[in-house]
Amino acid sequence: MLEESHIYFHKAADVMGLSSKLCDVLLAPYRVVKAEIITEGDDGKLKQHFGFRVQHNRARGPMKGGLRFHPTVDEAEATALANLMTWKTAVVDVPFGGAKGGINCDPAELSESELHNITRTFVGQIKEVIGPTLDIPAPDVNTNAKVMGWIMDEYSRFEGFSPGVVTGKPVHLFGSEGREEATGRGVMLVLEAVLKEQKKSLSDVTVALQGFGNVGSFAARLMAGKGATIVAVGDHMGGVSNSEGLDVGQLVQWVGEHRTVHGFPGGEAFESAEVLTWDADILIPAALGDVLTKDNAADVRASIVVEAANAPTTPEADEIFHQRGITVIPDILANAGGVTVSYFEWVQNIQQFRWDLDRIHRELEKYMAKAYRSVADVARKRHVDLRTAAFVLAIERVGEAAMSRRLFSETADLTR
Ligand code: NAD
Repeated sequence: MLEESHIYFHKAADVMGLSSKLCDVLLAPYRVVKAEIITEGDDGKLKQHFGFRVQHNRARGPMKGGLRFHPTVDEAEATALANLMTWKTAVVDVPFGGAKGGINCDPAELSESELHNITRTFVGQIKEVIGPTLDIPAPDVNTNAKVMGWIMDEYSRFEGFSPGVVTGKPVHLFGSEGREEATGRGVMLVLEAVLKEQKKSLSDVTVALQGFGNVGSFAARLMAGKGATIVAVGDHMGGVSNSEGLDVGQLVQWVGEHRTVHGFPGGEAFESAEVLTWDADILIPAALGDVLTKDNAADVRASIVVEAANAPTTPEADEIFHQRGITVIPDILANAGGVTVSYFEWVQNIQQFRWDLDRIHRELEKYMAKAYRSVADVARKRHVDLRTAAFVLAIERVGEAAMSRRLFSETADLTR
């Protein structure tokens, strides 16, 4: 994954004519923390885990990114994802840099009190390098609002009341209205903006989605609410289709009870992977990375791919889409609604003032529309695809901030 994000970065750097030295400087993380986490399990035995926090770039503000609990968490993965966060926060123009981290534990094998202990111990070890003005973690794979509440509490034990140290907190504990649906709403808003340029609206299109979790289900609900026809949804267990349009409300209810779309009576069943090549105008991968590859890209039938998941398209598939004239709305733009509302949460925490849901929706719409316009402008000016344009825009913003702060002087001429 690190190499892939670097390929996209370098494509943009070539368009900009950046020196290789400057590329090295912009790609390298600012700080990498690895901490040994020793805790006692419920059985009284010692447990050893490792926690990572990679802080990639601080030029545009405090660093921001998720914290995940997964056995495969390591420095390389956290570095690649921290890198993406730097470009994502710059594309939507929220005043943050990029970070990412996690603990290499398997939550399925741990009790809640063991997880709680591990989380607090990790916070104790990284408390000097995180904070509302330094680095602000958020939920990610296998972490949630509850875990963010623990982090806020543990950090506040050392530093005093600090709700702004994490985002994605429960709404009753200084979280923000609208955070849960923010990524899916952002996906819908960006797609709407792209369709508008093509003189279409959501009510003109059919949509196939891979993944019906947080992002996929909210995106589907909001798109259907605006008249889109959701014709196919696939998840880890199977798929369900209906050419007349699935009843998304009922599907959400079914998944709430059965944890999968498989078996939903309001459509016909199909093999999960087929969703990627479904006959629909829009394809939204909203599950895993690396699902659109050189092996299936030629068979994709949608004319627009919206990357709701992180890194769902390999560079080979991206090239095939480009040649076939398929528009790809890149992850660093398409799924940036989440980090944007995280920014709103942080702002509310700093101000000690609550925004209502209406205001969150209005502000998110403004941010996503502006981000899309800026990316589309760069694409037009530079004659590049939206992904390359998003990277160009982000690199320019990060580079300019770094130069103005004199974080490094090598950038004397960014576009040389
Ligand atoms: P989630 O865990 O809520 O849902 C994941 C979905 O993917 C589920 O429907 C699951 O069944 C499906 N899935 C898992 N394995 C699959 C497989 N092998 N084949 C098909 N489907 C499979 O996760 P989420 O929060 O909705 O995140 C989805 C993606 O969006 C991830 O790539 C995540 O990194 C990215 N993302 C999420 C957010 C956010 O705010 N939640 C923000 C930015 C990016």
